[in-house]
Amino acid sequence: MSRLWNFSAGPAALPQAVLERAQRELLDWQGCGASVMELSHRGKLFMSLAQQAEADLRELLAIPDDYAVLFLQGGATQHFAQIPMNLAGEGDSADYIVTGHWGEKAASEAAPYVQVNIAGSSKAQHYRGLPPRESWQLDPRAAYVHYTPNETIHGVEFHDIPQVGEVPLVADMSSDILSAPIDVSRFGLIYAGAQKNIGPSGLVVLIIRRDLLQRAGRPMARIFRYAEHAANDSMLNTPNTWGWYLAGLTFQWLKEQGGLAAMRERNRAKAELLYRTIDGSDGYYRNPVEPAARSRMNVPFTLHDSALDADFLKESEAAGLLALKGHKAVGGMRASIYNAVPLEAVQALAGFMGDFAKRHG
Ligand code: PMP
Repeated sequence: MSRLWNFSAGPAALPQAVLERAQRELLDWQGCGASVMELSHRGKLFMSLAQQAEADLRELLAIPDDYAVLFLQGGATQHFAQIPMNLAGEGDSADYIVTGHWGEKAASEAAPYVQVNIAGSSKAQHYRGLPPRESWQLDPRAAYVHYTPNETIHGVEFHDIPQVGEVPLVADMSSDILSAPIDVSRFGLIYAGAQKNIGPSGLVVLIIRRDLLQRAGRPMARIFRYAEHAANDSMLNTPNTWGWYLAGLTFQWLKEQGGLAAMRERNRAKAELLYRTIDGSDGYYRNPVEPAARSRMNVPFTLHDSALDADFLKESEAAGLLALKGHKAVGGMRASIYNAVPLEAVQALAGFMGDFAKRHG
């Protein structure tokens, strides 16, 4: 069995070089006679791994010193709730810009902890684009503005960072972090579940402007308080050491690839090829998203006749193309083309799509 081209939305493909290195090091990490999974997180060896991973992430994203970087757990979903717990006090409101499934979830999970104001939404347009900036009803007294730069299911992406004035901007970057350089200083808080562009599931990377750690939030257990995690170097309790290790290997791999500017170019080329294939198919394949809001990471598409879906999935898998089934919320197909998916994989998919259309005319 060889590895197939993997278009999974998440947990998603990891760089093969990272997996091979982890395999080589699995039993005996750094000559210490044990696996990295079998060592104390408070030991010298693991501490140096943790520091290196943070330093590499800071270098890749050019994270300013007045931001803390946390390696947490709970998935992005837990942080949908934990963010308002930390950033909003009793009676505060927060603005949510909702452009798809995950933004909706973020808003609904926040609702027990903050008064949620849906300040902009493209729900009425079935999340096929972004709500025009003029239509947003931002409240300058909001505790923060939350948005989802890339909606993994609907395949909708912001291609610039919204201007929201002085209110801290909070971004769920689960499915676009590290896909291109970003200006971290424009954000109050960035968070991302690891299982797309960072490493395995079970790890969350959270980048927070340090002054926001001083917000009192509400009474809560220490384990929920970001300031406690920051004060304890993300080792308030036992962290996901394996996930942290693999994230560190991915950061090193990204640096070897030429950093995020190089990833941006690669990701652009992959997305262009796939959208060109869809748009050039004379309606055989369709992507429902307005061109200006199309995602570079997740490309949903339908076939002109959904009766062909089962054949498409069966034949694509036989051709070595894995996990193209779309999310049930939108149906059809979806190709997720994160950092670890090479251009070669997208070329193979584009070739298969052309061939399938010919054969099933
Ligand atoms: N936000 C986005 C943008 C996602 O794509 C996902 C998962 N696919 C989540 C949040 C939820 O992540 P988790 O399952 O790690 O809680």
